[in-house]
Amino acid sequence: MESNVRVRFAPSPTGPLHIGGVRTALYNYLFAKKHQGTFVLRIEDTDQTRYVANAEQYIIDALQWCNIPFDEGPKTDDKFGPYRQSERKEIYKKYVDILINTGWAYYAFDTSEQLDAHRKQHESEGKTFMYNWHNRAKGRLINSLVLSEDEVQQKINAGEKFVIRFKTPQDEILQMEDEIRGKISIDTNTLDDKILCKSDGMPTYHLANVVDDHLMEISHVIRGEEWLPSMPLHVLLYRAFDWKAPKFAHLPLILKPVGKGKLSKRDGDKLGFPVFPLKYRNEKTGDVSRGYKEDGYFVDAFINMLAFLGWNPGTEQELFSLEKLIQEFDLKRVSKSGAKFNPDKTKWFQQQYMQLKSNTALTNLYLPILEEKGIKTEKSYVEKVISLIKERAIFIDDFWGLSAFFFTSPTEFDAKASKKNWKPETGSLMTELINVIESIEDFSSENTETHIKTWITNKEIGFGKVMQPLRLSLVGKLAGPHLFDIIAMIGKEETINRIENAIQKLS
Ligand code: GLU
Repeated sequence: MESNVRVRFAPSPTGPLHIGGVRTALYNYLFAKKHQGTFVLRIEDTDQTRYVANAEQYIIDALQWCNIPFDEGPKTDDKFGPYRQSERKEIYKKYVDILINTGWAYYAFDTSEQLDAHRKQHESEGKTFMYNWHNRAKGRLINSLVLSEDEVQQKINAGEKFVIRFKTPQDEILQMEDEIRGKISIDTNTLDDKILCKSDGMPTYHLANVVDDHLMEISHVIRGEEWLPSMPLHVLLYRAFDWKAPKFAHLPLILKPVGKGKLSKRDGDKLGFPVFPLKYRNEKTGDVSRGYKEDGYFVDAFINMLAFLGWNPGTEQELFSLEKLIQEFDLKRVSKSGAKFNPDKTKWFQQQYMQLKSNTALTNLYLPILEEKGIKTEKSYVEKVISLIKERAIFIDDFWGLSAFFFTSPTEFDAKASKKNWKPETGSLMTELINVIESIEDFSSENTETHIKTWITNKEIGFGKVMQPLRLSLVGKLAGPHLFDIIAMIGKEETINRIENAIQKLS
């Protein structure tokens, strides 16, 4: 069932998508799916000076990895397209003309030198220069609101450069509503007459964004807080066009883990965690930035973590699949205040998802790694290994370090642990142990444990005297899961071989 909820994610392709952008996309996606609506991807590429060629593909790849695909966008052929603003230039022209004709927009000829001089003059008086009715009334501005029609025409004919500005209403308290922040009001006298069309004829973000949201029938604009200052102009543009405005929801900023301010692209490198979903290679500089995917995060852990940066379900529950997030997501539960990014919590989510994954799924991820290492083994054996080491793992890459001894015998022994635990009498004790092991018929974990422990008890020596050297022999260090599980897994012959090897090397 199609509903009339239509939302859009509208990134500018100026570089890789930062996790803040991914969160905006995610909230839009969740909201759309919750309301059986449509999720649109629109590429806002009108600013050619900041355009980065591989950024659009990066955005598309990132959404795909995140499992939050768009319903309409650059690669879909839908009636609301094209979805790249650079392919919609003709459309904007028509709408600028409408605003000029209705008196909501005007030509402005002030050069950047003149505007700079005004700014400096104001600064020297401790004031801020504003391009609006205030300075117009003082005769400081050169635009079609103060010039005669003939003068304007002459300037245009003479090829003078101009921009088109929005005529902000004077003396009005503009009332607005934000789905997250509630009622917001602003005095229009504090607003500049923003540029809608640049001197090269290209629309600015404001104009293209509002025209497209209208033409694409966007019902809810869900975007980052950094766009809140643009909301008054956007609301006024809807009024100027006599269009119904969509509902607005401005998401809280994602803040640095320590200190103040927004989490920036540079924070990740500085603090040692990725700020991008996927690895990114800057084509100009060749610099490579880390990505969550390549760092080994499960996408469901990444998404769960992101969802909680600014939203919570109002209960203690923290683990939510994408389906569950769709069910529970509500703009009313998005917070107004910034959300501090916490790299430890991100790891925590990853660890939780590691435990939630089935042994079979994890085995399928581990098998190629084992193959690369030249290990030939049974799938069912790997599955058992996983069940024994999983709780100590955070990433798939941890598996080998935690389980190598299940597949190969140790090539070296931890020097410190050997020195402390391999005593002069250990060699003969281990030789005796080999005999005990040889006599065990049922090589299950429980049975070998009973036999070996009974033997130790009968010998009236401390458990550590046997257990530590035994662990060293089998693992190479004093780590790993329950020793008798390891013994049962590698089998009698291999257990004995490893003990013999250790006797040779350590005695
Ligand atoms: N192009 C803007 C950006 O890069 C979109 C802002 C909006 O969603 O209106 O984030």
